[in-house]
Amino acid sequence: MRSQPDYDVIIVGGGPAGSTAAFLLAKAGHRVGLFERAVYPREKVCGGCLTQKSVRFLDRVFSLPLDAMRREGLLDFTGKGYALYIGDRRLLAEDLAEPFYFTRRERYDACLARMARWAGAEVLEGMEVTAVNHVQRTVTTAGGERYSASVIIGADGVHSRVRRSLPKGVVDPQRWRKNLGLALEIKIDRREAGVHLNREAAIRLDAEIGIPHVFLGACPMGYGWVFPNTDAVIVGIGGLFEANRKGLPDRFRELLVKIGFAAFSDRKPAGRLLSFGNYIPSPAHEGTVLVGDAGGFTSPILGEGIFYAHRTAELAAHAIDRHLTSGAPLAATYTSLLNRRLIRELEAEMRVRDFLYSHLNGGTPAILLRFLARVVRRPVIETVHGHRSFQGFRRDEDLHTAVW
Ligand SMILES: Cc1cc2nc3c(=O)[nH]c(=O)nc-3n(C[C@H](O)[C@H](O)[C@H](O)COP(=O)(O)OP(=O)(O)OC[C@H]3O[C@@H](n4cnc5c(N)ncnc54)[C@H](O)[C@@H]3O)c2cc1C
Repeated sequence: MRSQPDYDVIIVGGGPAGSTAAFLLAKAGHRVGLFERAVYPREKVCGGCLTQKSVRFLDRVFSLPLDAMRREGLLDFTGKGYALYIGDRRLLAEDLAEPFYFTRRERYDACLARMARWAGAEVLEGMEVTAVNHVQRTVTTAGGERYSASVIIGADGVHSRVRRSLPKGVVDPQRWRKNLGLALEIKIDRREAGVHLNREAAIRLDAEIGIPHVFLGACPMGYGWVFPNTDAVIVGIGGLFEANRKGLPDRFRELLVKIGFAAFSDRKPAGRLLSFGNYIPSPAHEGTVLVGDAGGFTSPILGEGIFYAHRTAELAAHAIDRHLTSGAPLAATYTSLLNRRLIRELEAEMRVRDFLYSHLNGGTPAILLRFLARVVRRPVIETVHGHRSFQGFRRDEDLHTAVW
């Protein structure tokens, strides 16, 4: 007779995806082990932009409405407007009815892991998983210990060891590579930014740098950004890996010069792979499922991933709960939930991404783009915030409905 496994569920990786799954499954009464290789608070290279999708998720699932998020120190900055550029030209700039928020990932991720622990999950920090056996359903840690579970969740980010240990056939390597992104980012201290910003540069940033700035087409099939934090300004650039693997550092330096930050163009940026539409349609095999960046789930246009990490973890947690309590087939249940609740939306966004970025890089006249931007700007912003769907910009609440 097979002895009882150490856990019902082992989760590898304690970012937003892992902590969400741990929180929900522990709350549902399952024995959860969350294995995180770092010790909180840990750094994560990220712009930290939270759309309303994420804010609503934290309220609905973690019972953290805005004032509670503020109290927990999760909202570092509120961007009450935005500015959008193509090339050197400011296409749009306006105040927003609903702001973008900016978080500090070291605080955000530590807080959610804490909530998972309060819900009853065992959070094991400094525990790197080095091997996964999908048949025996075990993980081995860097210290050589082996732990068993009925289900394993790969929430270990874009380089996921859990994903890489899955048999061939689960992940289509060509599709993964084609839609993978690459990003560079630097964080500039506000005082330094104030001293060195060249206000005569080709692009003049908003005086206080108090709103997010987005530079469409700053690199092929991608964009650049300036995101405000209280003590810092985050400048980044990212796009499809295949289109940018050679030239991205040069494009980044060009962007820094254009926006008046030439003084920082010698600073070495953090370079990271970025999910950019490379989601795996059926990210499950036997007793293992992938969530968040491990499964390639982000917005294909913006690379926004925090919300998608939360949402895929919620869908996976629901499938796992049904599997553990009533024997529902794990892979089929998770895949079907993803199809109904997320994948169609991502497919539609991919079509918009390919149209948008190929026109930006194809020399479509700026006047036409400006016209289009003015006509569709409201529905587009509402779609980014998750109130509408990329499928025809119709009103849609599917991203927000509870599955539990
Ligand atoms: C430059 C850049 C800017 C971005 N800006 C934004 C933004 O502004 N807004 C937004 O929404 N998204 C942004 N993203 C995307 C976002 O950061 C990710 O989509 C999000 O962090 C995914 O969450 P996750 O939980 O899936 O993975 P992660 O946040 O990567 O967490 C994975 C966790 O797994 C742990 N881990 C890894 N391997 C192991 C192992 N073997 N054993 C144990 N633990 C392990 C890691 O330490 C980490 O804590 C950005 C990404 C980049 C690269």
